[in-house]
Amino acid sequence: MPQKILAINAGSSSLKFKLYLMPKEQVLVSGLIDRIGHQDSVFTYKIDDKKYKIIQKVKDHPAGVKLVISALLNSGLVKNKSEIVGVGHRVSHGGSYYTQSVEINQDVAKRISELSVLSPLHNPVNLLGIESFQKLLPDAKEVAVFDTSFHSTMPPKAYTYALPYKYTKDYGIRRYGFHGQSHQYVYGEAKRRFGKNDTNKLISCHLGNGCSICAIKNGKSVNTSMGFTPLAGLVMGTRSGDIDPEIIPFIEEKAHLNSESIRSLLNHDSGLLGLSGVSNDIRDVLKAENSGNERAKLALDVFVHQIQEYIGAYTTDLGGLNTLIFTAGIGEHSASIRKRVCHDLSYLGVEIDETRNEANRIEIQDNNSRVRVLVIPTDEEIIIARDVVKVLGL
Ligand code: ADP
Repeated sequence: MPQKILAINAGSSSLKFKLYLMPKEQVLVSGLIDRIGHQDSVFTYKIDDKKYKIIQKVKDHPAGVKLVISALLNSGLVKNKSEIVGVGHRVSHGGSYYTQSVEINQDVAKRISELSVLSPLHNPVNLLGIESFQKLLPDAKEVAVFDTSFHSTMPPKAYTYALPYKYTKDYGIRRYGFHGQSHQYVYGEAKRRFGKNDTNKLISCHLGNGCSICAIKNGKSVNTSMGFTPLAGLVMGTRSGDIDPEIIPFIEEKAHLNSESIRSLLNHDSGLLGLSGVSNDIRDVLKAENSGNERAKLALDVFVHQIQEYIGAYTTDLGGLNTLIFTAGIGEHSASIRKRVCHDLSYLGVEIDETRNEANRIEIQDNNSRVRVLVIPTDEEIIIARDVVKVLGL
């Protein structure tokens, strides 16, 4: 019997949702509340091709959840709240506990709360979303779908840091990896289209506000660029990605910053924004570069070079490469960044076709390329909805 399932993706000041009819995977409503906590929060949602936009103050996540549920009821697509049988929540950090999605009970909620130490920006808001839905949809079962689960297949040599082993053991300091739903989704799409054998040595580049790369061997994550937290790896909109760890105490001493200010500097003032001084949005940085801004050019060169470094490194984890995927805001839309990344990868057999690339086609490699190069729009919410069905046995 078709069932209505909600997929929820709560960020620090946003709440994304999709209402699905499962197992058909039909999207009934999709929407986003942005700028939660501001006077002018923006609530947009779409039913069929009709778009709605409401600007009003949404003071916090519980208020946002209330708004979403009233919109669903007003739309007539949900006549009674109890029609929604399951709610899936994207949860940032599952630590070493959760290698798969899980139905949320008191113990799971407690663990998610404890794991806030490892993901202070995300786990608390994820939990707030969970608690709000528990109150407002008491008949629905809730499922946590962790960003980290897909990477639980990484071998110890890829997830262990060379710190005194005591810290790994006592504090759980290791690489966890994030964006799991996205890497899993684009891999699944590539496999569905081109088969298992042709996608068994695959690199997925998720390039959005947050950026990460994942090496996927025979369908399993074997390495990924984000680490203990989502700060590691690639240059991002405002996050630094990898830096020499000694830089941190050095800046602390030179600029008289405490660890909280350093954390903020690395998370919010670095990356494309910090380097270019222009913006965290790559479209603005590209424009600035076009009009001769040298720092914008440097920011983009560093951004691209870092992606290339990881791709090169991950071919070692994979023992080769047969598929390279670009996804998320930049990966899906920026032909010029894809071109720059692929430009120096001909040694790996990567050659792209300019026309296909400019047209954002699914396959953008040229006919001589030894590697299939794909542009696949990500869909984290469908992974969440599928897991709700799986975990609840619907
Ligand atoms: P998030 O990681 O928050 O889900 P997205 O995947 O939506 O974010 O990516 C957002 C980023 O994608 C923007 O900051 C912008 O840099 C980039 N982006 C979005 N649309 C385009 C476009 N048409 N061309 C180039 N870059 C784009």
